[in-house]
Amino acid sequence: MADDYDTRDILRPLVFRLHENVPSIVREVLLERGWSEFDKKGQDDADWNLYWRNSPFHMTDHHSIKPWQRLNHYPEAVRITRKDYLARHLKRMKGAYGSALYEFSPVAFIMPNDYVKFIAEYSKERQSVGGRPSYWICKPVDLSRGRGILIFQDIKDLVYDCTVVVQKYISNPLLISGYKLDLRLYVCVTSFCPLTIYTYKEGLVRFATEKFDLSSLDNVYAHLTNTSINKYGASYKKYKEGIGCGCKWTFSKFRSYLRIFGVDDVVLWQKINNIVILTLLAVTPLPVASNCFELFGFDILIDDKFKPWLLEVNYNPALCLDCSIDDTVKRKLLHDIVELLNYKQIDTFRQNQVSGIKAGRRSTAGESATEETPGLLTCQKVAKCASSEQPALQAAGASIRKVSTLTRRTARAHPRKTLTSQLREGMNMPKIPSQAKAETKNKHFPGARHSPHKSAQLSCWLHTPDFCNYRLTTRPYFLSDKDQRPIPRVGDFVLIFPFNEAALQASRDGTDIKSIIKEINKLISKQLPSEQQNTRKRVGYLTSV
Ligand code: ADP
Repeated sequence: MADDYDTRDILRPLVFRLHENVPSIVREVLLERGWSEFDKKGQDDADWNLYWRNSPFHMTDHHSIKPWQRLNHYPEAVRITRKDYLARHLKRMKGAYGSALYEFSPVAFIMPNDYVKFIAEYSKERQSVGGRPSYWICKPVDLSRGRGILIFQDIKDLVYDCTVVVQKYISNPLLISGYKLDLRLYVCVTSFCPLTIYTYKEGLVRFATEKFDLSSLDNVYAHLTNTSINKYGASYKKYKEGIGCGCKWTFSKFRSYLRIFGVDDVVLWQKINNIVILTLLAVTPLPVASNCFELFGFDILIDDKFKPWLLEVNYNPALCLDCSIDDTVKRKLLHDIVELLNYKQIDTFRQNQVSGIKAGRRSTAGESATEETPGLLTCQKVAKCASSEQPALQAAGASIRKVSTLTRRTARAHPRKTLTSQLREGMNMPKIPSQAKAETKNKHFPGARHSPHKSAQLSCWLHTPDFCNYRLTTRPYFLSDKDQRPIPRVGDFVLIFPFNEAALQASRDGTDIKSIIKEINKLISKQLPSEQQNTRKRVGYLTSV
């Protein structure tokens, strides 16, 4: 018998692992893509590719991550998803880089700590000659879905019994047919170091289900746009003129609507993208971690001057399906996330982990590999790395000799076509013959297929000092195989950071926030002329529709 391991093992589908209470659509999408679910009893502990949970992972999960695996949370991402943390970070950035740049978040006070400051601001506004008294919104810091929210104008109505954020209430929101709306924008960060941000082109516009009315501040159906609240409203299922039934639109529908009324939606989206970048910059650096990603839900409110405001950033944005619009948007979103994770058709690291257990019986300890496998570390380097502290590399080091033999044996095996592989094939550029030839030629010289220029680019993206001690032929998963840069677009995910060469350079080797802010300022000044045009155009038009 030629081999005592089974090629079916090598061509196994990708495996997902779900923690409790993960929305069922995540499982559905992964099954649709031909993945299989992790079986704790029957499978090796590390034999999964994607682990999805609603709560943060333990640091041990991050430390023991393997090269073929991805986690759906970045450590400490909650730094911006708790309302008080976000308020604190943005305030700090305002202080450091100027309030003009960071004036996209409504003024906020964290109570009870900021009580005195709030009273000072409140009194100042009340006393200003001719000034209308402001409206305020009070939100418990660690609740979501509109729970515990209170809107008030007079301080005597402010009551709270836990830590809350009291924020300026945007009392002039953009209205469509009299209904308030906000945007749920999906943002995926594939790396915080270097910062790599994608925004999703499609998303949800969430409407209040009763007409906006400042004389009834306690009517949650008129002032809050959370679906979790509005779906229980009396008007939810009814046809609402100008809006329709339910409480959601897609971004596509909203943007066409804006265009009909002469509003330049591109300018609006540029401003929203700037908000996303500036917000995420406020929490960098986060602890270094590889092979993870974070899907955030940014809540953006647009006022009647088309100025977007950041209300909050959600951890685990809702993936439940309340209506057909949810299904359309969220299903495609999840498919595109999996594409963004850039799994390889044949992942030799994982194959070896799985099949190598069997093959290991045949493999002698001293067997050395002489061939380089594209996308792997060299054997010698892996051996060195394995003695370092990088667990992913340790795993590789333990198995690399077997991989090389195994890969030679299986190089011609073609994986079964799954929906995943077909989609991936559709996305990947076919290799031109000369490229393939060059790769074969360079097999004995790891890194030789990269020009010095390209190697330099690659080094920008290597995550940890441990990694940097070795010249790698692997790269972080979010870099393109073609040019070793973040992939500009995957499905409906569009790369918004880094947005130019200077921003890319400033985010290497630790984030140089000052330089990035400089680049953002330049970007904004280029965007300004069309912005002014936009504001001149049809301000206030939609509110009267
Ligand atoms: P939650 O996490 O409870 O959903 P949010 O901050 O998202 O809290 O607020 C819930 C809703 O309240 C928003 O979707 C929006 O409709 C409204 N809202 C929140 N903050 C403001 C604000 N500053 N101005 C106007 N409306 C707001």
